[in-house]
Formats: sequence, structure tokens, C-alpha cells
Amino acid sequence: MPPHSHLPPPLRQLYDGRLLGAKCVGRHELFDSELDNEGETAEQRSARHTAAIQVCETCPVQAACAIAAAEAGSHAHGIWAGRNLTPLNRQGRPRKDSAA
Ligand code: SF4
Repeated sequence: MPPHSHLPPPLRQLYDGRLLGAKCVGRHELFDSELDNEGETAEQRSARHTAAIQVCETCPVQAACAIAAAEAGSHAHGIWAGRNLTPLNRQGRPRKDSAA
């Protein structure tokens, strides 16, 4: 029996067996791009994400997580595989074809 078969169907769709052993389980407050607490400052968010990235550095499924993040594309927000995928952090350099 698959380890996630006890979950209700909506949660089964979110289950990714490649990420068994992930160190972020139950620690969304570090990894989420934004918290419901709207009083979080940019510095607090940065410190939270830095702590999350440190957790990722010791995670046994970091490589699989990077693949899952790539598969999720723009749906992946927050910290994945030691990278901050919060939309503002994705902007980076402008695309070459958008230069004037
Ligand atoms: S590498 Fe991925 S699975 Fe592991 S702690 Fe970081 S975000 Fe979670």
C-alpha cells in the first residue's frame, strides 16, 4: 500500500514520494514566501528564508526537491531546494529580448 493512500484525495495529489524525508515537513513558517502575519518586515522575512535555506543544506532529498521545483515552475513559491522562488526573487535580469 502506498504510504500516502490514507490521505484524502486532494492531499494525495500533493504527495510526492521523491520527497520522503524532507526536513521542511511541518516547518512551513520558515519556507513560505509570505506569512499570513502581514506585520512581517522584509528583514524578518529574509532571516526566516535564510534559516530555511540552512535547513535545505542538510536535507537528504535536496536534489529531488530541485527537480520537483523545476516541474512546478511558477507554482513553486518560497524556499525550495535552498533557493528562494518567491516571485520578486525570480525577476533577476531582464530577458535579452526585452532590452530596448
Ligand atoms: S531541500 Fe526541499 S524538501 Fe528539503 S528542506 Fe529544502 S525545501 Fe524541503
